[in-house]
Parts: sequence; C-alpha cells; structure tokens
Amino acid sequence: MKIAVFSTKPYDREFLTAANECLEHPHQLVFHESRLNSSSSLLAQDANAVCCFVNDQLDAQVLQQLAEFGVKLVTLRCAGFNQVDLAEAKKLGIVVTRVAEYSPHAIAEHALGLILMLNRNLHRAHHRVRENDYSLNGLLGFDLYQKTVGIIGTGKIGATLARIMQGLGCEVIAYDTRPDPALAAAGVSYVALEDLWPAADIISLHCPLNQHTHHLINAVTIAQMKQGVMLINTGRGGLIDTRAVIEGLKNKTIAHLGLDVYEEEANLFFENNSNSLLQDDVFARLLTFPNVVITGHQAFFTREALAAIATTALSNASFFEHGELEKICQV
Ligand code: NAD
Repeated sequence: MKIAVFSTKPYDREFLTAANECLEHPHQLVFHESRLNSSSSLLAQDANAVCCFVNDQLDAQVLQQLAEFGVKLVTLRCAGFNQVDLAEAKKLGIVVTRVAEYSPHAIAEHALGLILMLNRNLHRAHHRVRENDYSLNGLLGFDLYQKTVGIIGTGKIGATLARIMQGLGCEVIAYDTRPDPALAAAGVSYVALEDLWPAADIISLHCPLNQHTHHLINAVTIAQMKQGVMLINTGRGGLIDTRAVIEGLKNKTIAHLGLDVYEEEANLFFENNSNSLLQDDVFARLLTFPNVVITGHQAFFTREALAAIATTALSNASFFEHGELEKICQV
C-alpha cells in the first residue's frame, strides 16, 4: 500500500523504515516533513493511506480532499485522536486507526520526571551549578512521601503513574468516568472531581481531550484546588485553560506547573524555532515563571515507544489492506 507519511523527522523515518522492513509485505512509504493540512494534503494525491501524528490537521476539509484523492485509511502514530473529525471520516468511509498502547511507561515516567524536577527545583539547581553558584536559597523542596496525588484518567498511562507514585509512598486518589477495579483493589481511591481538587498536593492529567474535558482546568476548578498545588499535564494541551493557569500561578494557588503539551503547540513544538521571534504571548508569559517546566511534547519519545508506534501503525495498514479489520485498533 502506498502511504503518505506526514510530520516526519529523521527519527520517525528511522523507526518506520525498520518496522516496514520487518513486514511480510512492506508498504511503499513516502515521507513528508510537513504537517498535514489543507495546503499540504496534495502530497497524498496518489496515496492509498496517510500516516499522521498529533498535530496533523484532519478536519472535514482535509478529509474531503483525502477522500477525493482516494485515500481510504488514516493510520495514526499516536494514542489520542482529538485532531480527527471522526464523524466526517465515517461519512466519507475513511477508516481511522490509532496506536492505543505503545508504552504507557514512557509517558508516566516523563510525568514523574516533571514532578521530581519541580518538587526539588532541579531545573534551577542545574543552571546554578553551571554558573559556579552553589547557594540553596530558593531551591527548598518537599518530600513526595505521604503526599496525595490526584490522577484524572486512570487508563493505561494514568494507572501506570498511579502505581509509580504508590511506590514512592504517596496516597493516590483518582477520578475516571470508568474506574478501574484492579487499581481500586491496589489501594487507589476513586473520588468525585470536586473532592479531588481540594485534596490533592499534585494533580496529573491523563484523560483524553474531548468536549467533556476541554478546559477541565479552568478558573473555577483552580479556585477549588489546594493552595500550593503542583499541576502536571502530559495529556493534551486543551485540557487546560492556559490563561486561567497563569492567573493561578500569579496568585500562588499553583506553586508548580509541569507541561509536556500546550493548547497552541501545533505552531511551536517539534521544530527548532530558535532563529525566529516567539509570537505567542501566553506561552511567553508561561516561560517567565521559575516554577514552570515545559517540555515540547516529548513524553512519548523513548526508543521502546517509537519502535512500538511504528510497528503498530504499519501493521494497522497491513490488516486494513488484507481486510482483517477485526485486528485493527479502529477509532
Ligand atoms: P486510555 O484510553 O488508556 O485512558 C484514558 C482514560 O481516561 C480512560 O480510563 C477513560 O475512562 C478516562 N476518561 C475518559 N473521559 C474522562 C473524563 N471526562 N474524565 C476523566 N477520565 C476520563 O489512554 P492513555 O493511553 O492512558 O492516554 C491518555 C492520554 O494521554 C491520551 O488521550 C493522550 O491525549 C495523552 N498522551 C500523551 C502523550 C505525550 O507524549 N504527551 C503520549 C500518549 C498519550
């Protein structure tokens, strides 16, 4: 099958090429660096499928263009699918597949990395030592032991983080529309959201972005949080109303913020923009806080995860090609 692969970096090409070579019937992969949108969709003109990532734009207009070109499959290289107009895809008869699970450990461990960086101010300490400054003022941290961690969304990633945090001696409370009995049996207490906000010392977001969860973190919910809370988002940027979070940082309700995703990340992340001026004033304000750590959507970025993503995304295309739809992780 001829697959137009969008938003590819050298590392994507390396892992996809390796996974493709392992298939019994390899695909013809045509790599494009550009993101998929209405201007770049022409690149999929003679393809049977497109392979896309988190910031590719699969709205109604783009999907209609793809359908006109004869594209029958969108194979996503990610777990989230909020970037796809699923209703339109269904209407057009385009099958959408995703990589439901590649390495929940990659993302959960990155969330832990952000937590540890923030609670001990490691980002600031690192810079100080390199400046020959060994003073400790401003670096005072807190023990994670016996703190309460509130996890929103206890699917694969949230459950993995819950177990990690339990291992550090934290009490884990959680909210999920579909609680996991195994996690509850392991000592995680499911609570209502209104009970999670005031109880948690650390809140970590692991639910999907959809109409119910858009701006889940907003002025009203921040006002219910514990003074000095740490907020971690490795889910999707749109879960957070960034302007409200900036206010929460300014009035010190939020004492630490760790982000791997940002609601306007599509024009920023995955690129080296160091030669251009930052035009996003909201993001620029976030960067001024010493108690904010931001990574550019890299939580998934481990060798194990990239290998699994490539294998699953291309296997989904093979199953589709051979009519084995029951084996596909269809969205
Ligand atoms: P998952 O489907 O296994 O788990 C999602 C959980 O959220 C489920 O248990 C579901 O019941 C729950 N949920 C759904 N709606 C909810 C709501 N309104 N409130 C609370 N919980 C709700 O997904 P996952 O693999 O654990 O991934 C979670 C999210 O992490 C993905 O949707 C994706 O956006 C994000 N993600 C980010 C990265 C990254 O690199 N930063 C990588 C992979 C996934």
